[in-house]
Amino acid sequence: MKKVILFTLTLLVISACTETKKEETQAELFARIDTEILQNSKAYSTLKEASETIGHRLTGSENGAKAEEYTFNKFKEYGYEVEHQTFEVEAWARGMVALAIDDEQMKVVTLGHSPIKSDVTGDIIDRGNGLEADYLSDPDGVRGKIALVYINILEGSPEGLTNLHRSEKTSLAMKYGAIGIIIINQVPNGVLLTGTASVTGALIPIPAVCIGMEDGMAIKAQLKDKSVSAHIEMTNKSDMIKARNVVATLTGSEIPHEEIVIGGHLDSWDLATGAIDNGIGSFAVLDIARAFKANNLQPKRTVKFIMFMGEEQGLFGSRHLVAEAIKGNTIDNIKYMMNLDMAGNPIGMNAGGKLENETFFTALGAAIQKQDTVYQNTFSNRSGLHSDHQPFMLEGVPILSVHSNLDRSIYGCYHSDCDDFNLVNKDHITNTARFGTMMLYGLANAETLPAIKMDSETTKQFMIDNNLKEKLIIGGDWKWGE
Ligand SMILES: [Zn+2]
Repeated sequence: MKKVILFTLTLLVISACTETKKEETQAELFARIDTEILQNSKAYSTLKEASETIGHRLTGSENGAKAEEYTFNKFKEYGYEVEHQTFEVEAWARGMVALAIDDEQMKVVTLGHSPIKSDVTGDIIDRGNGLEADYLSDPDGVRGKIALVYINILEGSPEGLTNLHRSEKTSLAMKYGAIGIIIINQVPNGVLLTGTASVTGALIPIPAVCIGMEDGMAIKAQLKDKSVSAHIEMTNKSDMIKARNVVATLTGSEIPHEEIVIGGHLDSWDLATGAIDNGIGSFAVLDIARAFKANNLQPKRTVKFIMFMGEEQGLFGSRHLVAEAIKGNTIDNIKYMMNLDMAGNPIGMNAGGKLENETFFTALGAAIQKQDTVYQNTFSNRSGLHSDHQPFMLEGVPILSVHSNLDRSIYGCYHSDCDDFNLVNKDHITNTARFGTMMLYGLANAETLPAIKMDSETTKQFMIDNNLKEKLIIGGDWKWGE
C-alpha cells in the first residue's frame, strides 16, 4: 500500500516537472501568434469598414470624432480598458478655394495653414525648383507677384541639389516678397497634394496652393513667351477644436509601472480617406491589440495602444500625451515608443534614439523571420522627425519603427486626393499586425530592454549628432537654448 502511494506520488511529481518544462518556447509562441493572426486578423476589414462608413479622419471634424469613437469601441470589444484623452488646440481646416489662370479656372487645393481669407491677383513668376538659388539671380523679381515652383527637383536641374519641404519653399517665396505661391505636384494625372505650408505650424500670411503636374507644366511652357496672371481666392478656418487620443491599456504582469507605448496616428487629411496615411498603421495597431488578447499575451511590462489624433496638423495628440506625462511625473515610466506611420509589410526594424543593444533586435528579428521569410530582418538606427515619435524622442525615450516594403506607386498618393482604400493590400496590412505583434511582445516582455531613456543633456547631444538641431529650431521645437 505504502509503496503504491509512493509510486503514485513519484509519478505525480514527474508529471508536474514535465508540465513546467513544457513551457512554451519563443518559437512556439510566435508560431501560435502567427497562426492566429493569419486566421483572424481584422486589420484589413476594420479599415475597410471605417473607410466606407466614416471617410476621412480629419482632426476636429465630425468625421474625426467618429473615428475616435469607432476605434474606442473596437478596443472595448477586444476586451480593453480604454480612455479618451481629450485635448484642445487651434487647428486649421480648409474652406473654399478658386484659382484662375488668365481667367480660366484650374483644379487646385489649398495647402495647410494658408490664411483664413485671401484674394490676390498677380503675374506668375516661374521660380523653378523654388530653392534659394532660384531667387538669387533676380531677388526682387517675385516681389508683389505669385511664385510658381515645382515640389521636387525638375529634370535637367544641376546635379547635387537638395530638395526642400513644401513649407520651406513657401517660406522662401515669402522671404522674397511673393504674395502667393503655386506649387506644382510631381505625380502624373492631375493628382493633388495637401499638407502644411507652414514651417512653424502657425498660419502663414500668403495663400499657398497645389496644382496638378500637367497643369503646372503647361503654365511653365506659356511663361516662356508671355506673361500669365493668376487670381487666387480662398477661405479657411483656424478654430479651437477638441480631439481625443484613444488609449487602451494592458497592465504588465511583473513590472506594470514600466510602459511600452505603441501608436499610430488615426487622423488623416481630408482630400481622400487616408487609407495609407495612416489607416494601414493605426488599424494595424488596433489589430495588434486584438491579437494580444486573442493570444492571451501577458508581457511583463504594461503596453499602451494609442490612436493619436492631430498628427497631420502638428503632432498635437502625441505632444499632448507627452506633456501630460511630464506634468503627471509619469514620463520616466515610458520605456519605449513604437510608432507605425504609413508602416506596411514590414521587413525589418529601425531603432531611432540611442541604441545600446543591436543584437536584441537582430535576434528578435531572426525569430520573426523563422515564421516567414517575407520578413528579411533588416536593421537600421536612423532618427528623423515629423511623426508621433518626435515628442517622445525629444524626452529621450528610445524609439522603434519598421522598414516597410510597400509598392512604390502608393507613395504618389501621399497626402493626395487618391489616398483611398483601393491602395491597401490585405497581405501587407496583415503582415504589419503579425510581425508588429511579435516585435511589441518581444519588447514588452524583455528581460532587459535594448536601450534606456536618455537624460536631457544626452538627448540634446543626440539631436546634434543626428543633424536634427537646425530642423528642430525651424519648427520651434528646440528646447535647449544655444
Ligand atoms: Zn502620417
